[in-house]
Amino acid sequence: MFKRVIVWFRNDLRVHDNAPLSFAFQKAEEVIPVYCFDPRSFGKMELDLDKTGNHRAKFLLESVDNLRSNLRNLSGQLVILHGKPEDVLVDLAINHHADAIFFSEEVATEEKEIELQLEQNAWKHGIKTQAYWQSTLFNIQDLPFPVMQTPEVFTQFRKECEKFSKIQKTLPVPKKVTFPKEITDFGELPDLSTLGLKDPSSSSRSVLVFKGGETEGIGRLQAYFWEKDLLKVYKETRNGLLGGDYSSKFSPWLALGCLSPRYIYEEIKRYEKERKKNQSTYWLIFELIWRDYFRFICKKHGKKVFKLGGIKNNVDKWSRNEQHFWKWAKGDTGIPFVDANMRELNESGFMSNRGRQNVASFLVNDLGIDWRWGAMFFESQLIDYDVCSNWGNWMYVAGVGNDPRENRYFNILRQAQNYDRKGDYIRHWIPELAAIPGFDIHQPFELSTSQLKKYSISLGSTYPHPLVKYKVWI
Ligand SMILES: Cc1cc2nc3c(=O)[nH]c(=O)nc-3n(C[C@H](O)[C@H](O)[C@H](O)COP(=O)(O)OP(=O)(O)OC[C@H]3O[C@@H](n4cnc5c(N)ncnc54)[C@H](O)[C@@H]3O)c2cc1C
Repeated sequence: MFKRVIVWFRNDLRVHDNAPLSFAFQKAEEVIPVYCFDPRSFGKMELDLDKTGNHRAKFLLESVDNLRSNLRNLSGQLVILHGKPEDVLVDLAINHHADAIFFSEEVATEEKEIELQLEQNAWKHGIKTQAYWQSTLFNIQDLPFPVMQTPEVFTQFRKECEKFSKIQKTLPVPKKVTFPKEITDFGELPDLSTLGLKDPSSSSRSVLVFKGGETEGIGRLQAYFWEKDLLKVYKETRNGLLGGDYSSKFSPWLALGCLSPRYIYEEIKRYEKERKKNQSTYWLIFELIWRDYFRFICKKHGKKVFKLGGIKNNVDKWSRNEQHFWKWAKGDTGIPFVDANMRELNESGFMSNRGRQNVASFLVNDLGIDWRWGAMFFESQLIDYDVCSNWGNWMYVAGVGNDPRENRYFNILRQAQNYDRKGDYIRHWIPELAAIPGFDIHQPFELSTSQLKKYSISLGSTYPHPLVKYKVWI
C-alpha cells in the first residue's frame, strides 16, 4: 500500500475503465491526479506546422476541463501543470511526498522517451513509477503472440486475436478519489492564446459539433447506439461523407481516451443482446481492431513508422515541391473531391475515412509528394489525431507500410462518382462552385470533364491541371 500516488493522465482523459486511476484507488491512501501541458506538444514541426492545431487544442482543453469536473464529482481534484512531465511530475512528487507515479503506457517514440526520462528522474529520488497498458481492445498481455511478432498483415492479426485472445472487462469508476487536503493550488487550465493558438471559429458545415470530454463522448455513444439506433446500419453507411450519422464519430474521444475501446465493446455486446446483432454490429468491432493493429505495429516497429522508407525501408522517390503541397493542404488543387475534403479538414478538424484515403492517395500517388508531409499536416489538423492510426494509415497508403497489395491507387474521379454521385458533398464544402458561369448549384451534377475544367479555371489553373498526372483525368 502506498501513502500517496500521483496519477498522470495522458491520452486517457476519463474516469471510467482507467487502469492507473483504478489501481491508485486500490493501492494508495491518497491520490493526486495530474495533467501536464507539455510545451513540446505546442511547438512547430517541419513546414512551420503547429504540432497541435487549434481544432485539436480546443478539443483537448474541453476534455481536460471535463476530466476535472468528473474528478470533482468523485471528491477529487485535477492538478494542472505546465512543463516537461519528466521534470514537473517529479518535482510535484518530491514537494508533496508522493511515493509513486502511475500512468498509462504509450508506444510512439516521443512518448516513450518521455516515459523513460520520467522513470530515470523519479528513480533518482526513490519515487516508484508504474506504467499500465490500457489503450486497446486487446490487452498487450493477452495477445496470442509476443508484441514484437505482431503479424504484419491485418487479417492475420485480427483472426489470431479473435480466436485466441479475450477482451478484458472494463474497470469500474473509483467510488472516491481521496485528494491530499494540503494541496490547494490546482493550477490553471490554459486558454488557446496561452498555447499560442487562435480560437477556431465553429463551422456550421461540420458533420458534428465535436466537444471534448468523457461526458460528451459517452453522450455520443448513447445517441449513436441507443437514441438513434444507428449501430445496426453502420456497415452500410460507414463510407458516407455528409452529416453526423454515417459513422460513429467516436475517433476524437478515442484519441484522447475520453472513451475506452472496451467500454464501446461492452456497449456493442449489450446492443446485440437488447436490440440487434448483425454484420454492422460486428463491423464496428472490426474497425476497432484496426485501431489496435496500428498501435501494436507502432510498438513493434518504433522509429521506422516515422521514417521516409517506412517499415519496408523503401528508397526515396518523393517530391518535396512546397507549392504543390500547399495547394493540396489548402484545398486548392482544382480537383473538387480533393479540395472539398481538405476544406472540411481545415474548417472543422475532421474528415471521413473515405475522404482521408482519397486525399492521401492523391498526395502520394498523383502529386508524388513525401508522404510524411501529409501525415504531419494531418497531425496538425485532425481533431482525432492518434499517432499510431495516423502514421500507420499514411504508411499504408504510401506503400511503405503493411499493405500486402502493391500500389493501392484511388482514382479520384471514379471515387467521387461512386461516393458523391450528385455532388452534394462537393457543393457543401465548395459553395463557390455555384458562382462559376453555367454551373447550376441546384442541379445535381456528375463530375464531368467540362465541369472539372471550369473548376480548375476558377482557381486560376490551366486545364488539364498542371499538378495532376494524366491518369487522374481518364
Ligand atoms: C491517411 C489516414 C489517416 C488517418 N488518421 C487517423 C488518426 O489520426 N486518428 C484516427 O483515429 N483515425 C485515423 N484514420 C482512420 C479513420 O479514418 C478514422 O478513424 C475514422 O474516419 C474516424 O471516424 P469514425 O470515428 O466515425 O469512424 P468509424 O467508422 O465509426 O470507426 C470506429 C472507430 O474505429 C477506428 N477506426 C476506423 N477505421 C480505422 C482505421 N483505418 N485505422 C485505425 N482505426 C480505425 C477508429 O477508432 C474509429 O473511431 C486515418 C485514416 C487514413 C486513411
